[in-house]
Amino acid sequence: MEDFDVCRQLEELIKLNRLPHAVIVESRNNAASEKIAKNIAKACVCSDNSNRPCGKCINCYKASQNIHPDIYTVKITDKKQAVGVGEIRTMISDCYIKPNEARGKVYLILDKMTVEAQNALLKILEEPPPNIQFVITAETSSSLLQTILSRSTVFKLDNSLNENDNNAVNEKSKEIAVEIASAIPQNIELPLLIATGKLINDKALTQKVLEHLSGFFMAALEEKYFPENEQPQHISELSRTLKKRSLIKLLGTVEQAQKKLSQNCNMNLLATWLCANIRQSRHTS
Ligand SMILES: [Zn+2]
Repeated sequence: MEDFDVCRQLEELIKLNRLPHAVIVESRNNAASEKIAKNIAKACVCSDNSNRPCGKCINCYKASQNIHPDIYTVKITDKKQAVGVGEIRTMISDCYIKPNEARGKVYLILDKMTVEAQNALLKILEEPPPNIQFVITAETSSSLLQTILSRSTVFKLDNSLNENDNNAVNEKSKEIAVEIASAIPQNIELPLLIATGKLINDKALTQKVLEHLSGFFMAALEEKYFPENEQPQHISELSRTLKKRSLIKLLGTVEQAQKKLSQNCNMNLLATWLCANIRQSRHTS
């Protein structure tokens, strides 16, 4: 279950054709991250237009048998400990060859990479050929160069929620709320979409996130009237970039979301609704 929301989030991005060209799946559980990476690959080659991966088409079948010609897995050679620069260079030259059967090609890097290998990878991440998807798995993102991380989007599998630990839910919910609040002034859709996507399928978590958000918007509004108070950055940014009317509208949006939640609405729809309405509130003039 712990990977469920990450999977849903990824599926949603794939469906919207919004999957970032380099995705990192981070988890201490190698089997779990590998499974998700392969599922992304399958979705990328799938020939269905609306429901990817459909699990029924020939591309999906080949992907699940690990025989799809457009899914390339970078492997460690010669009993080495990590993927070296040679393997990455071979992969890069393959990137410029057109796909065989699918609309694009997918490159899976499921083993650790040396620093040299990561440096070689960097170039292609900066200027990838069209229709290329990279999926990298890592036990911890700290094993990857900052320059790789900054050109990728990290999806971290969360094992703590599994334990039904209230503290973990609390911490996690604040983290997501800060992520949503910080995405609002940026005025680009993707960070907000990713942050609200984390709410799919977890009602208790969503409840907490909404509480935090309500607190943040109140504090940002307060700062407009009493600017001398020291506030955390995500709050002062909201206060600096948004008009009073927008903040009031955002408070109303949270309130409506709380109401929907108490009426047992579809969580998937709620996350989408929230994302759209936050964007709309932001643009209130
Ligand atoms: Zn398919």
